[in-house]
Amino acid sequence: MNMFLMPIVPIEIALKYLTNQQVVSIPTETVYGLAANATSDEAVAKIYTLKNRPQFNPLIMHVPSIEMVERWAIVSEFAKQLMDEFWMKRGVSISFVLELKKNHPLSLLALAGLNTVAVRRPNHPVALEILNSLPFPLAAPSANRSNNLSTTTANHVLESLGDGVPVVDGGSCAVGLESTILDMTQDQMTLLRLGAVTADDLAPFGKVTHAYTEGAIKAPGMLKRHYAPQRPLKMNVLNKESDMALLGFEDCADANLNLSISGNLNEAAANLFSYLHQLDREPFTSIGVNPIPDTGIGAAINDRLKRACEEG
Ligand code: AMP
Ligand code: MG
Repeated sequence: MNMFLMPIVPIEIALKYLTNQQVVSIPTETVYGLAANATSDEAVAKIYTLKNRPQFNPLIMHVPSIEMVERWAIVSEFAKQLMDEFWMKRGVSISFVLELKKNHPLSLLALAGLNTVAVRRPNHPVALEILNSLPFPLAAPSANRSNNLSTTTANHVLESLGDGVPVVDGGSCAVGLESTILDMTQDQMTLLRLGAVTADDLAPFGKVTHAYTEGAIKAPGMLKRHYAPQRPLKMNVLNKESDMALLGFEDCADANLNLSISGNLNEAAANLFSYLHQLDREPFTSIGVNPIPDTGIGAAINDRLKRACEEG
């Protein structure tokens, strides 16, 4: 970024940044989002670095239309009916979790390796103008550092994230609450998170199942909100065992794939999920991973690897 530019930027400049895999904070009706091209691992890795999040969670994809979602996710008639009602007619804040099509273009890092996706059409004129001008969806968690409060004004964003992130000022957010998340992958309604849209709002459309208790997910394992490779995973591996796929970091002569030859943790995060997917296949029977420094976004990489070891 040009250091002489004000961090508050007009929409045209924001579009240039987003097209060039840079992160921009944009207003939505719920909270300010930290947005990046959801089809680019490189762009999405920057979101995690900026948020300083010690974990990779799947991110919500922001879209301008139902048509865009239909290009890469499976949208049943029922899901379409709900999107039409809640997004297009009522303009309320709800995200739908859907099954992805096989050859979708989305970043595996943004999906945290899952084959489902959460999608949302934000009801904010600035967010919609930005989304309507781009050919790709935007991955956008709340624009605050991990453990800080969500931000509802451009100034909050600058206070939380510093002036390294360009912000499009759209005034203060009307809702200030995060979106309701509804899982539609079973073609029935399962509430994953309560927000502006309540179970009562959904009830006229059919049976609503709750998958949370007081904000906490009841059965995280069953919901498959996290990806783990099928093959057993070992961390801090320096030398390959037989039939093992070795995922390298920095100098590693016998790595099958290398997360970042130059030792760049941002690049390693961007490659993590797609490389795990690539190595999770025959003839390999296990996956070993070189030691990853536990600093910055490296902590989130190690967190994901640790969980994959436990789940595997
Ligand atoms: P935020 O962007 O901070 O509002 O949070 C995103 C929320 O959406 C997190 O709680 C994620 O776990 C959830 N989420 C995103 N994608 C999925 C998915 N594919 N399946 C289930 N939950 C998801
Ligand atoms: Mg948040």
